[in-house]
Amino acid sequence: MLENNLFLTDNPESKAEYRRIIGDTVSAVVEAFDSPKAYEGPEPFRLKKLVEMEQLLPDHGLGWEKVLDNLKTVVLPNFLRTSSRDYMAHLHSPGTIESIAGELILSTFNQSMDSWDQSPVATEIEVQVVKCLCKMFGYGENSDGVFTSGGSQSNFSGITLARDWYCSANLNHDIQKKGLPSCSSKFRIYTSEISHFSVEKTAHLLGLGYDSVVKVPVNEKQQMDFDSLERLVKKDAASGNLPVCVVCTFGTTDFGSIDPVEKIRKLCDEYKMYLHGDAAYGSGVILSEKYREKLAGIELCDSITVDFHKMFLLPISCSAVLVKDKKNLDFFTIRADYLNREEDEEDGYTNLVDKSIQTTRRFDALKVWISFQMRGKDGWSEIITKSMENARYFYGLLKEQPDFEVVTEPEISSVVFRFVPEGKSDGEEADAVNKKIRRSLIHEKGIVIGQTVCRGRVQLKFTLLNPLLSRENLEEMMGVIRALGKSF
Ligand SMILES: *Cc1c(COP(=O)(O)O)cnc(C)c1O
Repeated sequence: MLENNLFLTDNPESKAEYRRIIGDTVSAVVEAFDSPKAYEGPEPFRLKKLVEMEQLLPDHGLGWEKVLDNLKTVVLPNFLRTSSRDYMAHLHSPGTIESIAGELILSTFNQSMDSWDQSPVATEIEVQVVKCLCKMFGYGENSDGVFTSGGSQSNFSGITLARDWYCSANLNHDIQKKGLPSCSSKFRIYTSEISHFSVEKTAHLLGLGYDSVVKVPVNEKQQMDFDSLERLVKKDAASGNLPVCVVCTFGTTDFGSIDPVEKIRKLCDEYKMYLHGDAAYGSGVILSEKYREKLAGIELCDSITVDFHKMFLLPISCSAVLVKDKKNLDFFTIRADYLNREEDEEDGYTNLVDKSIQTTRRFDALKVWISFQMRGKDGWSEIITKSMENARYFYGLLKEQPDFEVVTEPEISSVVFRFVPEGKSDGEEADAVNKKIRRSLIHEKGIVIGQTVCRGRVQLKFTLLNPLLSRENLEEMMGVIRALGKSF
């Protein structure tokens, strides 16, 4: 019995079972997309009740039909549909159809990227994909990189390399072996005040603490203010602190703003600092013929975070960290007799675990391999450019409205704004109205949008990753928000 239904093998019955279960799943998933709405599930308390169960692990297995039934009643209808035109809350994209095929393939074969003997062709493909990415972002022959679980892990990797490189290059200290040097409480990492919180998380995990992160103010356009950065670095250096690294953001999470990399690079050179580029959001811009120049200078970073599960529209997880000087990745190498023997490498067996902070690791590079070939430069340019043009259109539209305020012109594809109800422009009342708008949109209209705070005030946010969205959709959405705002 097990022989027939446990795995996909060369056994004909197991193949039939694979087709049956995957086939049923495809039908059920497709049916769950009958509605155009982003969310039609209940509010949190009712949802909790709905999924409560007495026995997740029953005494006897229920069989596939019953489980499929449970999926159809409890899970599938309550999913958020990320491909909906009514979903624009976060940097969280729908997955393109061909990349979902990639997920099926990579899960079925379940290769693990740590060693060549767990992922022969997958290893070689990841190496090729990384090579292509390095070139795409302007890195030279000496570069390398590795896929990670997401932007947070890519940032963690980049900042760890920054710390280790700094200790090795500037302090002649072997941190891998000896741990943090005694002066590590003086280490300083500079990043803009609106950069991603994974920078601080990393500082904590690296034993440097939140206090090692210096938050540099942003200008009107929400970019790191270079003069402030220079002043802060100078002041720290003068007072005996050790400027280790700058994290420069290409596409801040809320605003999509891009920090001035060229000036930052010069400063880093002057103070022998490492420069990490967080392009978790903005990396997709490289594919837009029209807008790619916005990333000019990204190759000046010593490492770059690239997220494919944001603008690139690939299923979670899919991210990479690219490193300008591949030697720095040696900081992640540690030998194990059972995994990555030195003699393997000499004989051409690549063990990618040497470059990664993970051991068992998904073959996410396959999704990039598939979708790059499938859509090509022109296909990708159209997708990315469209979402950026949508943001520009929506910004222009809102600017003309007396009852809306917009924070700043979009650099990439997000627009941060608020509805200002007549006579309630004092702030707090308007804050409350905007919060209510977002909640009502979810539960009354099936529309999911973002919310954040800027300049002390509650803001609404459209993160426009979906190229299917039209100008009419955006106009309509503005009308819905206005009508709701007026009704409170
Ligand atoms: C999303 C994001 C991250 C974190 O990436 P995950 O893939 O969510 O871990 C880091 N930096 C920026 C600027 C981001 O927008």
